[in-house]
Amino acid sequence: MIKLLVVGTVAYDTIETPFGRAEHVLGGSALHFTNSASFFTDVGLVATVGSDFKLEEISFLKERNVNLKGIQVSDGKTFHWEGRYGYDLNQAITLKTELNVIEKFRPEIPAEFGEADYVFLANIDPVLQSYVIDQVKKRSATIVLDTMNFWIENRYDELMDVIRRVDMLVINEAELREITKEHNLVKGAKRLISLGPTCIVVKRGEYGVLMVSGDQIFLAPAFPLEDVFDPTGAGDTFAGGFMGYVANVNDTSIETLKQAIIMGTVMASFNVEDFGINRIKRLSYKEIEERYTAFKNCLHFGDVKFKV
Ligand code: AMP
Repeated sequence: MIKLLVVGTVAYDTIETPFGRAEHVLGGSALHFTNSASFFTDVGLVATVGSDFKLEEISFLKERNVNLKGIQVSDGKTFHWEGRYGYDLNQAITLKTELNVIEKFRPEIPAEFGEADYVFLANIDPVLQSYVIDQVKKRSATIVLDTMNFWIENRYDELMDVIRRVDMLVINEAELREITKEHNLVKGAKRLISLGPTCIVVKRGEYGVLMVSGDQIFLAPAFPLEDVFDPTGAGDTFAGGFMGYVANVNDTSIETLKQAIIMGTVMASFNVEDFGINRIKRLSYKEIEERYTAFKNCLHFGDVKFKV
Protein backbone atom coordinates (compact mmCIF):
# COMPACT_ATOMS: atom_id res chain seq x y z
CA MET A 1 0.00 0.00 0.00
CA ILE A 2 1.30 3.46 -0.82
CA LYS A 3 1.83 6.06 1.89
CA LEU A 4 2.31 9.11 -0.29
CA LEU A 5 0.20 10.10 -3.29
CA VAL A 6 1.46 12.69 -5.77
CA VAL A 7 -0.37 14.30 -8.65
CA GLY A 8 1.36 16.67 -11.06
CA THR A 9 3.15 16.81 -14.38
CA VAL A 10 5.38 14.25 -16.05
CA ALA A 11 7.07 16.19 -18.80
CA TYR A 12 9.63 16.49 -21.51
CA ASP A 13 11.69 19.58 -20.72
CA THR A 14 14.05 21.60 -22.87
CA ILE A 15 16.50 23.39 -20.60
CA GLU A 16 19.22 25.93 -21.26
CA THR A 17 21.66 26.94 -18.53
CA PRO A 18 24.98 28.82 -18.81
CA PHE A 19 26.59 25.35 -18.77
CA GLY A 20 24.74 23.66 -21.61
CA ARG A 21 21.45 22.74 -23.23
CA ALA A 22 19.35 19.57 -22.93
CA GLU A 23 16.40 18.87 -25.26
CA HIS A 24 13.33 16.82 -24.41
CA VAL A 25 14.73 15.38 -21.20
CA LEU A 26 12.49 13.80 -18.57
CA GLY A 27 11.04 16.26 -16.10
CA GLY A 28 7.79 17.51 -14.66
CA SER A 29 6.80 18.43 -11.13
CA ALA A 30 5.47 14.98 -10.17
CA LEU A 31 8.39 13.10 -11.70
CA HIS A 32 11.06 15.15 -9.91
CA PHE A 33 9.05 14.79 -6.70
CA THR A 34 8.62 11.03 -7.02
CA ASN A 35 12.24 10.42 -7.97
CA SER A 36 13.24 12.07 -4.67
CA ALA A 37 10.45 10.85 -2.32
CA SER A 38 10.92 7.22 -3.37
CA PHE A 39 14.14 7.08 -1.32
CA PHE A 40 12.04 7.41 1.84
CA THR A 41 8.56 5.93 1.36
CA ASP A 42 6.14 4.12 -0.99
CA VAL A 43 4.83 6.58 -3.55
CA GLY A 44 1.82 6.38 -5.89
CA LEU A 45 2.18 8.63 -8.95
CA VAL A 46 -0.83 10.03 -10.81
CA ALA A 47 -0.14 11.93 -14.04
CA THR A 48 -0.81 11.86 -17.75
CA VAL A 49 1.63 11.45 -20.62
CA GLY A 50 1.14 11.47 -24.39
CA SER A 51 1.50 8.60 -26.82
CA ASP A 52 5.02 9.91 -27.60
CA PHE A 53 6.18 9.14 -24.04
CA LYS A 54 8.61 6.27 -23.52
CA LEU A 55 7.23 4.59 -20.39
CA GLU A 56 10.30 2.36 -20.09
CA GLU A 57 12.32 5.50 -19.22
CA ILE A 58 10.58 5.73 -15.85
CA SER A 59 10.32 2.00 -15.09
CA PHE A 60 13.40 2.31 -12.83
CA LEU A 61 11.02 3.88 -10.29
CA LYS A 62 9.31 0.51 -9.77
CA GLU A 63 12.55 -0.77 -8.22
CA ARG A 64 12.11 1.97 -5.61
CA ASN A 65 8.57 0.78 -4.81
CA VAL A 66 6.79 3.48 -6.82
CA ASN A 67 3.34 2.45 -7.99
CA LEU A 68 2.85 3.72 -11.56
CA LYS A 69 -0.75 2.49 -12.01
CA GLY A 70 -1.99 6.08 -11.91
CA ILE A 71 -0.18 7.07 -15.13
CA GLN A 72 -2.71 7.65 -17.92
CA VAL A 73 -1.46 7.49 -21.50
CA SER A 74 -3.58 9.86 -23.60
CA ASP A 75 -3.72 10.57 -27.31
CA GLY A 76 -1.53 13.56 -28.08
CA LYS A 77 1.83 14.89 -26.96
CA THR A 78 3.36 14.91 -23.50
CA PHE A 79 3.43 18.21 -21.56
CA HIS A 80 6.48 20.18 -22.67
CA TRP A 81 8.20 22.98 -20.77
CA GLU A 82 11.08 25.00 -22.13
CA GLY A 83 13.08 27.22 -19.83
CA ARG A 84 16.31 29.14 -19.64
CA TYR A 85 18.53 30.31 -16.77
CA GLY A 86 21.01 33.14 -16.95
CA TYR A 87 23.82 33.46 -14.41
CA ASP A 88 21.11 33.94 -11.76
CA LEU A 89 20.25 30.29 -11.39
CA ASN A 90 17.47 31.14 -8.93
CA GLN A 91 15.27 32.53 -11.69
CA ALA A 92 13.92 30.30 -14.47
CA ILE A 93 12.67 32.14 -17.54
CA THR A 94 9.83 30.16 -19.12
CA LEU A 95 10.14 30.20 -22.91
CA LYS A 96 7.31 27.75 -23.69
CA THR A 97 4.61 25.92 -21.76
CA GLU A 98 2.89 23.41 -24.06
CA LEU A 99 0.12 21.87 -22.00
CA ASN A 100 -0.72 19.24 -24.66
CA VAL A 101 -2.37 16.24 -22.90
CA ILE A 102 -2.72 18.21 -19.63
CA GLU A 103 -5.50 20.25 -21.22
CA LYS A 104 -7.94 17.34 -21.21
CA PHE A 105 -6.54 15.53 -18.16
CA ARG A 106 -8.90 14.38 -15.39
CA PRO A 107 -6.69 12.82 -12.68
CA GLU A 108 -8.46 9.62 -11.57
CA ILE A 109 -7.01 8.30 -8.32
CA PRO A 110 -6.79 4.48 -8.31
CA ALA A 111 -8.92 3.10 -5.42
CA GLU A 112 -5.84 1.70 -3.67
CA PHE A 113 -4.21 5.20 -3.62
CA GLY A 114 -7.21 6.88 -2.01
CA GLU A 115 -6.17 5.62 1.44
CA ALA A 116 -2.81 7.44 1.40
CA ASP A 117 -2.08 9.38 4.58
CA TYR A 118 -0.07 12.03 2.72
CA VAL A 119 -0.96 13.77 -0.53
CA PHE A 120 1.25 16.13 -2.53
CA LEU A 121 -0.49 18.30 -5.11
CA ALA A 122 2.54 19.11 -7.26
CA ASN A 123 2.51 22.02 -9.65
CA ILE A 124 -0.38 21.56 -12.12
CA ASP A 125 -3.70 23.28 -12.93
CA PRO A 126 -5.42 24.17 -9.59
CA VAL A 127 -8.71 22.90 -11.03
CA LEU A 128 -7.12 19.45 -11.22
CA GLN A 129 -5.64 19.84 -7.73
CA SER A 130 -9.16 20.47 -6.36
CA TYR A 131 -10.49 17.48 -8.27
CA VAL A 132 -7.87 15.32 -6.54
CA ILE A 133 -8.80 16.63 -3.07
CA ASP A 134 -12.41 15.60 -3.81
CA GLN A 135 -11.18 12.02 -4.25
CA VAL A 136 -9.02 11.76 -1.11
CA LYS A 137 -10.81 9.22 1.07
CA LYS A 138 -9.01 9.70 4.38
CA ARG A 139 -10.26 12.82 6.11
CA SER A 140 -7.15 12.74 8.29
CA ALA A 141 -4.82 12.84 5.24
CA THR A 142 -2.22 15.64 5.24
CA ILE A 143 -2.52 17.55 1.96
CA VAL A 144 0.36 19.72 0.75
CA LEU A 145 0.30 22.07 -2.25
CA ASP A 146 2.78 23.60 -4.67
CA THR A 147 2.12 25.95 -7.60
CA MET A 148 3.89 28.40 -9.92
CA ASN A 149 3.52 31.76 -11.66
CA PHE A 150 1.83 30.23 -14.74
CA TRP A 151 -1.17 29.14 -12.62
CA ILE A 152 -1.16 32.22 -10.37
CA GLU A 153 -1.52 34.32 -13.51
CA ASN A 154 -4.03 32.08 -15.33
CA ARG A 155 -6.11 30.54 -12.52
CA TYR A 156 -5.88 32.87 -9.52
CA ASP A 157 -9.38 32.33 -8.08
CA GLU A 158 -9.23 28.56 -8.51
CA LEU A 159 -5.80 28.55 -6.84
CA MET A 160 -7.09 30.52 -3.85
CA ASP A 161 -9.91 27.95 -3.47
CA VAL A 162 -7.36 25.11 -3.32
CA ILE A 163 -5.18 26.97 -0.81
CA ARG A 164 -8.16 27.13 1.57
CA ARG A 165 -8.46 23.32 1.40
CA VAL A 166 -4.87 22.23 2.14
CA ASP A 167 -2.77 21.73 5.29
CA MET A 168 0.56 23.08 4.05
CA LEU A 169 2.13 24.90 1.13
CA VAL A 170 5.62 24.32 -0.23
CA ILE A 171 6.11 27.31 -2.49
CA ASN A 172 8.96 29.42 -3.84
CA GLU A 173 9.53 32.97 -2.64
CA ALA A 174 8.66 34.75 -5.92
CA GLU A 175 5.37 32.86 -6.05
CA LEU A 176 4.54 33.64 -2.43
CA ARG A 177 5.07 37.33 -3.19
CA GLU A 178 2.99 37.08 -6.36
CA ILE A 179 0.05 35.38 -4.63
CA THR A 180 -0.03 37.56 -1.53
CA LYS A 181 1.28 40.81 -3.06
CA GLU A 182 3.36 41.06 0.12
CA HIS A 183 7.12 41.55 -0.22
CA ASN A 184 8.03 40.36 3.28
CA LEU A 185 8.10 36.55 3.33
CA VAL A 186 7.06 36.11 6.96
CA LYS A 187 4.08 38.43 6.51
CA GLY A 188 3.21 36.73 3.21
CA ALA A 189 3.35 33.28 4.84
CA LYS A 190 1.16 34.49 7.72
CA ARG A 191 -1.35 35.85 5.23
CA LEU A 192 -1.66 32.40 3.66
CA ILE A 193 -1.93 30.79 7.11
CA SER A 194 -4.92 33.07 7.81
CA LEU A 195 -6.68 31.36 4.87
CA GLY A 196 -6.45 27.85 6.37
CA PRO A 197 -3.09 26.04 5.95
CA THR A 198 -1.14 25.59 9.19
CA CYS A 199 2.36 25.66 7.74
CA ILE A 200 4.09 27.45 4.86
CA VAL A 201 7.48 26.30 3.57
CA VAL A 202 9.11 28.97 1.40
CA LYS A 203 11.78 27.76 -1.06
CA ARG A 204 14.46 30.41 -1.67
CA GLY A 205 16.81 28.71 -4.14
CA GLU A 206 20.46 29.13 -3.15
CA TYR A 207 19.33 31.04 -0.02
CA GLY A 208 17.64 27.96 1.45
CA VAL A 209 14.24 27.54 3.04
CA LEU A 210 12.05 29.42 5.51
CA MET A 211 9.23 27.66 7.37
CA VAL A 212 6.44 29.53 9.17
CA SER A 213 4.02 27.53 11.31
CA GLY A 214 1.87 29.30 13.90
CA ASP A 215 4.28 31.56 15.76
CA GLN A 216 7.29 29.32 14.99
CA ILE A 217 9.89 30.14 12.37
CA PHE A 218 12.62 27.79 11.12
CA LEU A 219 15.42 28.52 8.66
CA ALA A 220 17.78 26.27 6.73
CA PRO A 221 20.43 27.43 4.25
CA ALA A 222 21.05 25.56 1.00
CA PHE A 223 23.94 23.08 0.97
CA PRO A 224 27.01 25.06 -0.22
CA LEU A 225 27.82 23.40 -3.57
CA GLU A 226 30.72 24.58 -5.72
CA ASP A 227 29.17 23.48 -9.02
CA VAL A 228 25.49 23.99 -9.76
CA PHE A 229 24.60 22.73 -13.22
CA ASP A 230 20.80 22.79 -13.70
CA PRO A 231 18.35 23.97 -11.02
CA THR A 232 15.25 22.63 -12.83
CA GLY A 233 13.24 20.47 -10.49
CA ALA A 234 15.16 21.50 -7.36
CA GLY A 235 11.93 22.70 -5.75
CA ASP A 236 10.07 19.47 -6.51
CA THR A 237 13.05 17.40 -5.40
CA PHE A 238 13.10 19.38 -2.14
CA ALA A 239 9.37 18.72 -1.70
CA GLY A 240 9.95 14.99 -2.42
CA GLY A 241 12.60 14.71 0.31
CA PHE A 242 10.45 16.77 2.69
CA MET A 243 7.21 14.82 2.17
CA GLY A 244 8.95 11.45 1.79
CA TYR A 245 10.58 11.96 5.19
CA VAL A 246 7.31 13.07 6.84
CA ALA A 247 5.39 10.13 5.34
CA ASN A 248 8.06 7.67 6.45
CA VAL A 249 8.07 8.77 10.09
CA ASN A 250 4.32 9.43 9.87
CA ASP A 251 4.38 12.56 11.98
CA THR A 252 3.76 16.25 11.28
CA SER A 253 5.03 17.75 14.55
CA ILE A 254 7.16 20.85 14.17
CA GLU A 255 10.33 18.94 15.13
CA THR A 256 9.70 16.37 12.35
CA LEU A 257 8.96 19.15 9.84
CA LYS A 258 12.34 20.74 10.67
CA GLN A 259 14.13 17.42 10.04
CA ALA A 260 12.13 17.00 6.83
CA ILE A 261 13.35 20.41 5.64
CA ILE A 262 16.93 19.27 6.17
CA MET A 263 16.25 16.08 4.19
CA GLY A 264 14.56 18.03 1.40
CA THR A 265 17.55 20.37 1.23
CA VAL A 266 19.97 17.44 1.02
CA MET A 267 17.96 15.91 -1.86
CA ALA A 268 17.69 19.21 -3.76
CA SER A 269 21.46 19.66 -3.51
CA PHE A 270 21.96 16.51 -5.58
CA ASN A 271 19.32 17.39 -8.17
CA VAL A 272 21.14 20.52 -9.34
CA GLU A 273 24.36 18.61 -10.12
CA ASP A 274 23.11 17.30 -13.49
CA PHE A 275 20.38 17.92 -16.07
CA GLY A 276 16.79 16.80 -15.46
CA ILE A 277 16.29 13.79 -13.20
CA ASN A 278 19.69 12.23 -13.98
CA ARG A 279 21.51 12.84 -10.69
CA ILE A 280 18.70 11.59 -8.42
CA LYS A 281 18.15 8.61 -10.73
CA ARG A 282 21.67 7.33 -10.10
CA LEU A 283 21.82 8.45 -6.44
CA SER A 284 22.51 5.98 -3.62
CA TYR A 285 21.25 6.04 -0.05
CA LYS A 286 24.88 6.08 1.14
CA GLU A 287 25.46 9.36 -0.73
CA ILE A 288 22.37 10.83 0.96
CA GLU A 289 23.73 9.84 4.38
CA GLU A 290 27.16 11.30 3.63
CA ARG A 291 25.77 14.62 2.42
CA TYR A 292 23.45 14.81 5.43
CA THR A 293 26.50 14.47 7.70
CA ALA A 294 28.42 17.11 5.72
CA PHE A 295 25.40 19.47 5.91
CA LYS A 296 24.98 18.89 9.64
CA ASN A 297 28.67 19.77 10.16
CA CYS A 298 28.13 23.03 8.23
CA LEU A 299 25.27 23.95 10.57
CA HIS A 300 26.78 22.92 13.89
CA PHE A 301 28.31 25.37 16.33
CA GLY A 302 28.85 25.29 20.08
CA ASP A 303 27.10 27.74 22.39
CA VAL A 304 28.75 31.16 22.39
CA LYS A 305 30.21 32.45 25.66
CA PHE A 306 28.58 35.69 26.73
CA LYS A 307 30.57 38.22 28.74
CA VAL A 308 29.62 37.91 32.39
P1 AMP B 1 10.91 23.42 -10.29
O1 AMP B 1 12.22 23.79 -10.94
O2 AMP B 1 11.07 22.48 -9.15
O3 AMP B 1 10.07 24.60 -9.94
O4 AMP B 1 10.04 22.62 -11.38
C1 AMP B 1 10.46 22.36 -12.68
C2 AMP B 1 9.52 21.38 -13.36
O5 AMP B 1 8.18 21.94 -13.41
C3 AMP B 1 9.92 21.11 -14.79
O6 AMP B 1 10.40 19.78 -14.90
C4 AMP B 1 8.67 21.37 -15.64
O7 AMP B 1 8.34 20.30 -16.49
C5 AMP B 1 7.56 21.57 -14.63
N1 AMP B 1 6.67 22.69 -15.01
C6 AMP B 1 7.02 23.84 -15.64
N2 AMP B 1 5.93 24.63 -15.83
C7 AMP B 1 4.87 23.95 -15.30
C8 AMP B 1 3.46 24.24 -15.18
N3 AMP B 1 2.92 25.38 -15.64
N4 AMP B 1 2.68 23.32 -14.54
C9 AMP B 1 3.22 22.19 -14.08
N5 AMP B 1 4.52 21.83 -14.17
C10 AMP B 1 5.35 22.71 -14.78
